[in-house]
Amino acid sequence: MDFQRGREAVTSERGDKPRACSFCGGSLAPHWPSEGFWSCRECTLVTRDPARYGSTLERLYKSSWEDPGARVDETGDMDQALAERYAASLAGSLKIAGFRGLKVLDFGAGRGAMVRALKGLGADVFAVEPYGLDYLRSEGIAACATLDDLPPGLAFDGIFTSDVVEHLPAPWVEISRLRERLVDGGWLYLATPNPKGLNARISGGRWREAVKPGHIVFFTPQAMERVLAKCGFARNERLRWRLHYGRNPIRNAAQSLLQWLRLDGALRYLAWK
Ligand SMILES: [Zn+2]
Repeated sequence: MDFQRGREAVTSERGDKPRACSFCGGSLAPHWPSEGFWSCRECTLVTRDPARYGSTLERLYKSSWEDPGARVDETGDMDQALAERYAASLAGSLKIAGFRGLKVLDFGAGRGAMVRALKGLGADVFAVEPYGLDYLRSEGIAACATLDDLPPGLAFDGIFTSDVVEHLPAPWVEISRLRERLVDGGWLYLATPNPKGLNARISGGRWREAVKPGHIVFFTPQAMERVLAKCGFARNERLRWRLHYGRNPIRNAAQSLLQWLRLDGALRYLAWK
C-alpha cells in the first residue's frame, strides 16, 4: 500500500508543524493548538507531530511497565469486570453466543484483562504487547512483543484492539497488517477515544485524552470509515453499546443518552475482511 509512514512523512523541517495530513496528504487546519493537534480538511483525521513527544514516550511506556499495577493509565486501565462486559457485548454485536473454537488476537493487550475475559467465553487468545510481555507470560498468556513475532501463517477469526491506535504515528499501517492476519470473513474490533464526543467538544484542547502525551491520532467517525476502507475491509459498522460504568442511575441514564446520540467518549467499530 502507498501509505506514508509515520514521522518522516509528516514532519516539516521546522519539526512541529506537519506539512500535510499523514494519512491522505490533505491540508491541515489548527484543531487544538495548545496541544499541537491539527485536523485534516480532507479526511477529518486529528493528528499531532509524534516528534513533539517521541523520545519521552518510549521512556514513559517502559517506566510504566516496571510496576504495571501502579501506572494503569499507560499499562491498561480496564478492570476485569468491565472487560467481561465488553466481551459479552462483542459477542452480542457478532451475534454469537460465545467465542468457543475461535482464535482471537488482542493487539495491545495491556495487563491482559480482555484476554482473560475472551478466554472465559471460550476463545483461544493470543496477545501482542510490546512492553508488558514478561508480565503477560508470567500470567500464563500466550504473548509476543510485535506482530512480526507471531508465528508465520497463524491467522485469526477475530482481532480485538482497544485504546491502541491513538498511540501509533501511522495506525493505518498496523490496521492493514492486522487485516492480513485475519481469515476471510474475519472481524476486527477497534475502539479509540472519540474527538467528536461531548467531552471533547466541550473541553477542546483540555480534553483528558488530548492532554495525554502518548496520544498522537484521533479518528472522527468519517476518518475511521475512510481508513478502514483504504485498509481493505469489505464493510464496517459503528457499534452502539449500552455500557454503564457505575451504579448511579442518573449517570447511567446520561451515559445511555450520549451513546444513543453517538456523543459518548469511545468510538467502537467492527470491520470485516
Ligand atoms: Zn487527511
